Amino acid sequence: MNSKNPDKKHHMNANETVVHYFNRAADALEMEQSARRLLRTAKREITVEVPVEMDDGRLETLIGYRVQHNNARGPMKGGLRYHPEVDLDEVRALASLMTWKTAVVNIPYGGAKGGIAVDPRQLSRKENERITRKFVDQIHDIIGPDRDIPAPDMGTNAETMAWIRNQWEKYHGFNPAVITGKPVEDYGAKGREEATGRGVGILSFKMLKRLGRLPKDTRVVIQGFGNVGSHAAKYMCESEFTIVGISDISGGYYNPDGLDIPSALHYTIENKSLEGFDNAEKITNEELLESECDLLIPAALGGVITMDNVEKIKAKYIVEGANGPVDADADERLFERDIAVLPDILANAGGVTVSYFEWVQNRQYYSWNLNRVRQELDAVLSTAFEDVWQTGKDHEVSLRTAAFMIAIKRVQRATELGGF
Ligand code: NAD
Repeated sequence: MNSKNPDKKHHMNANETVVHYFNRAADALEMEQSARRLLRTAKREITVEVPVEMDDGRLETLIGYRVQHNNARGPMKGGLRYHPEVDLDEVRALASLMTWKTAVVNIPYGGAKGGIAVDPRQLSRKENERITRKFVDQIHDIIGPDRDIPAPDMGTNAETMAWIRNQWEKYHGFNPAVITGKPVEDYGAKGREEATGRGVGILSFKMLKRLGRLPKDTRVVIQGFGNVGSHAAKYMCESEFTIVGISDISGGYYNPDGLDIPSALHYTIENKSLEGFDNAEKITNEELLESECDLLIPAALGGVITMDNVEKIKAKYIVEGANGPVDADADERLFERDIAVLPDILANAGGVTVSYFEWVQNRQYYSWNLNRVRQELDAVLSTAFEDVWQTGKDHEVSLRTAAFMIAIKRVQRATELGGF
């Protein structure tokens, strides 16, 4: 992620927003305060010192975090983020979102998240590797295939995962299932990289079908053209949606007649950015969010739809590719305005679902082909979507509240079955 301030433009901070969504669903479930407190609170939060020697011989002391929110349904799962603004509050919010995300798609995991407050773009590859290995030295005994399984997030990638696995195995022996998002040729899963964006596309299709709208009559705007946005665009273009707007940190690109997505994908491979992409009107990211379209997919930063711009949103549907793109107050307004929002904990759960498939394959010493990964992803997301849709209808609540209700009920039930 290239932004200076990803996931953090909130008026309400990230954790307050998640707590607000949790409480709204807990109200609908008439859940007792004591149970709420139990499920909201993280099981364990750790902050560690990561001292590292830089290439020029300087000693740097960084801070690393791992928050393990809940393990009632299985080992904890969640990404590692390397970004200068990583702090305990943000990691805590993202860890609890992981608990609800794995529960809503019903994979046998709990939730966790971690990170290091560092700007990876300022690091050499060797410095990045040393930092990563030092961090593993500090947390190796609290992660593991049956305990807590990290994965990539902003600022980390398959190479980072390979270092983590190698360092962890020095303590505990061979076990690639300690981490997911590994390089495909080194115990990774085919289809992991595309999975989140593909899931966004699959779920958009399902939601629109329920609302009686065809892809070819649906104009789509996607904010962000990184891992999530570009794979969503590719899948949706192949499914005959008309994609009228895309963007990245360089700005927005809009064409009311539809953009040539294959050429945009090609362009970003060549140029690393959309800067200079033509056959489109150049607009700002703010204008992009407010542009004329039917379906809006924020897939870059958190906190981009707020009380400042919510009245200007023209889309009739929103699918949250990014984590936390809609502020809690703006979310209420979208509901009042009858704009359907497919929430992040379902909409971007394709990634963690295929991470789960990777873990399963590692434990079976077996590798699935791409077609099987795609079919199983489709099956998991379809079931989750139908559950959420039906719960929304039955209780006359938003899809977000419905998704949280399902997730909270599953975690609460697992907690009761296990005893305290
Ligand atoms: P990425 O770094 O691959 O891509 C981010 C994109 O956003 C880039 O195109 C970048 O140019 C753009 N961007 C950065 N700053 C911007 C700004 N100020 N305005 C507009 N665009 C800007 O990241 P990603 O993996 O695609 O993740 C995007 C979001 O999706 C994050 O919120 C992340 O937490 C969430 N997410 C990702 C995954 C996954 O599997 N990658 C899974 C679940 C959720």
